[in-house]
Amino acid sequence: MSWQWTRRQFLARMGIAAAAIQAVDHLDLCCALAADTKTATKDLFDMHQVADGVYAAVAAPQYKVNSNAAVILTNDGVVVVDSHSKPSAAQALYREIRGITKNPVRKIINTHFHWDHWQGNQVYAAEYKALEIIASERTKENLTRPDAGVGGVPFIERQLANLPKEIEQLKNDIMRATSPEQKARLEANLQQAEAYLAELKDLKPTLPTRTVSNTVTLHEQGREIQLLLLGRGHTDGDVYVYLPKEKVVVTGDAVIDWMPFLNDGYPEEWVQTLTALEQVDFTHMILGHGEVATKAHLAFFKGYLTDLIAAVKKAAAEGATLDEMKKGVADQLAPQYEQGMSKYPLGRYRDRVGLNIEMIYQKVVKKG
Ligand SMILES: [Zn+2]
Ligand SMILES: [Zn+2]
Repeated sequence: MSWQWTRRQFLARMGIAAAAIQAVDHLDLCCALAADTKTATKDLFDMHQVADGVYAAVAAPQYKVNSNAAVILTNDGVVVVDSHSKPSAAQALYREIRGITKNPVRKIINTHFHWDHWQGNQVYAAEYKALEIIASERTKENLTRPDAGVGGVPFIERQLANLPKEIEQLKNDIMRATSPEQKARLEANLQQAEAYLAELKDLKPTLPTRTVSNTVTLHEQGREIQLLLLGRGHTDGDVYVYLPKEKVVVTGDAVIDWMPFLNDGYPEEWVQTLTALEQVDFTHMILGHGEVATKAHLAFFKGYLTDLIAAVKKAAAEGATLDEMKKGVADQLAPQYEQGMSKYPLGRYRDRVGLNIEMIYQKVVKKG
């Protein structure tokens, strides 16, 4: 696998995945719109060097989505931020890491509790007995709370209950496919769904061994790593991983290059949190999903959340129904945000804006 991913390769791969996007229920929407893809295991992600010894593993689009990960080398080990959605993906990244250093992966940091960011933890725990898994205190709680949202141990059970229905649906869709191309794509999705179900049945949930409740600095053998707790946002336990010397921040899903997922979030506090992040001195962000971005992307992403909240509040005050808002607000914000929020086959503007509007209505207007 190449260490650098050209824009052309990236777009070519996305083109395959863009061929069809499946509609899925809300459960899957976190970080997780299903997309057709021919991605093989060896192509789960590509690595970009962001600074000396700091890499972004940018996930390729998959029917069962993976998060990005950050790989931070120290003088005697490796720190990995987020562990993908399944052990096979974590194993693939682990093999890549082995290609650049023989030092152990000593620490995992989970940015938040969503399923696609922690379900690969067990791989690193099996490889290094003294592994430390670090998360915020709140994230550790969310990982075992039944009502936390789309992640954690209880959510594994929900996925196990739902996957057989999803697999049946794919089989029905295959029988009704109208072209060989569509049939081939659906068959690839079916294969992924069945493989994912098999992995999930054997998953060994591996929880944080160390929690933080405030911003802390880790001194990791030549590397200063700050864990920033800036407030509630994408979830109530978000951690930002900040490398002050390299001026890089790893954001988890608090900043992504897709439309944000708001269902487990706190929209107004999220904007305040991003304002706090703006004060931090960095040049590049390794995002939860999408390509590595410069600081300029933060203003765009925060602008979307800010404008969305204002537009929904205004429409509600003027008496619009939710359905009217879903159309009106979506069209109103489209000139500014649709293009920038639709770069990938996953998490595009029109796929998510309706649900985003509904979430703002429920979380801000009705509870306001
Ligand atoms: Zn995610
Ligand atoms: Zn998330």
